[in-house]
Amino acid sequence: MQRSARIAFGLAAVAMGIVGGAARAQTEVLDHFTLIDGTGRAPAADQALVLRDGRIAWVGPSAKLKAPRGAPVTDLRGKFLMPGIIDSHVHLGLVDGIDQNFTKYYDRANVERQLGIYAAYGVTSVYTLGTDGDAIHDVIADQRRIGRIDRARAFTSGRGVVFKGSYGGVAGLDQSVATPAETKAMVAREAAKGADFIKLWMDDEFGMIGERMPYTISSAVVAAAHAARKKAVAHIFYYDNADALATEGIDGFMHQVRDRTADGALARKMMARNVWQIASTLSREASFTYTLLPFVDDPFFSRAVAPTTIAALKDPARQARLAANPNFPKYPEVLRNAMASLGVEAKAGVRYGMGTDSGPSARFPGYFAHWEMELMVQSGLTPLQVLTAATSTNAKFLGLTDIGSVAPGKWGDLLVLDRNPVADIRNTRAIASVYVAGKKIPTIWQTCVGREASVCGAAK
Ligand SMILES: [Zn+2]
Repeated sequence: MQRSARIAFGLAAVAMGIVGGAARAQTEVLDHFTLIDGTGRAPAADQALVLRDGRIAWVGPSAKLKAPRGAPVTDLRGKFLMPGIIDSHVHLGLVDGIDQNFTKYYDRANVERQLGIYAAYGVTSVYTLGTDGDAIHDVIADQRRIGRIDRARAFTSGRGVVFKGSYGGVAGLDQSVATPAETKAMVAREAAKGADFIKLWMDDEFGMIGERMPYTISSAVVAAAHAARKKAVAHIFYYDNADALATEGIDGFMHQVRDRTADGALARKMMARNVWQIASTLSREASFTYTLLPFVDDPFFSRAVAPTTIAALKDPARQARLAANPNFPKYPEVLRNAMASLGVEAKAGVRYGMGTDSGPSARFPGYFAHWEMELMVQSGLTPLQVLTAATSTNAKFLGLTDIGSVAPGKWGDLLVLDRNPVADIRNTRAIASVYVAGKKIPTIWQTCVGREASVCGAAK
């Protein structure tokens, strides 16, 4: 900076009262909660933290708290505080109700409305998986510029790579490639637009699609992603594809192995090659086993969903249509395989996150993250392991240093619960408050979509 410019800036700063701004910082103290910090450490009783300008300035035992003078103090005695949940696999802006249509519904307003729903459920960050229009880059650029936002933070893989004519992607979004050269160009383009990571699909819908993505294409995705210093992740279904992609250098799987159960050999290869099972999407597989989701009248679900959507889910014709789908009887086994695969991998030491694949029709933002965590516990993990997967592990996968745990310097993205989620994972639903960047935002218990607040059912 030129000297004159520096002086001019100094004068302006004085005039605007920025200099000595510590006194003007927005400070708040949360006190006397039990801390689950997201790192896997056991809960710590009677803790406190200081929020300053949306970030955690200090956290530690309440007895050692030095509360900044004048800062409001919230007494959270009896409550449990954890980092905001991160969902590592979502799709944004694809639906209105349960009607899915990218061309009709994908726009900035719909994306941001859904980010608000995620946050109401305590899901304060989401990774969006390959079905984004370019509007996502405007949303994210604004979020990163503003910092202190009032809904979930978004991280995107832009347009994921689909092999022409094969499985994946959404209608209305140009995202298919036929050759390795086209693949490299597409990945370079997505990286240049600001994708945080790169996604590919390798599947054939139970053999109903002629050809899965060939390895000449997937290896080009991995190489191009790594050339742009981005991680490459894959939609997989089959064991043999998971095994080959691990050899090729993929960084993460966004679904489980589901045609059979992952075994020690695959788990060892994933560990040796640092492949993370970053999403298991158990709630996705579980949702496919029902013709009517069993929780449609649970207020924790229905508060975020318009009555017209609930009526559409209950429509007997829809239920009959789902039951008649030739793939419907296959899903209980798919779910069993997915849950068993996660159990095998976790026991072997593979790193695993938490992701739902919510966002497409009838897979609901926020609710599915809580269901996913419950299914992960049913797969043999402890609640504390699941909470760690859903927070710090997910953050580490993308190298995000300012979310994912409760520690000095991180954003004040926090979930305050009335009951202990380490004792029972379903207690993540007992949401007392949600903070994004140190600001309280409306929780699901203060949300009632599409009707008068009084008819939304009991709060907790
Ligand atoms: Zn997905």
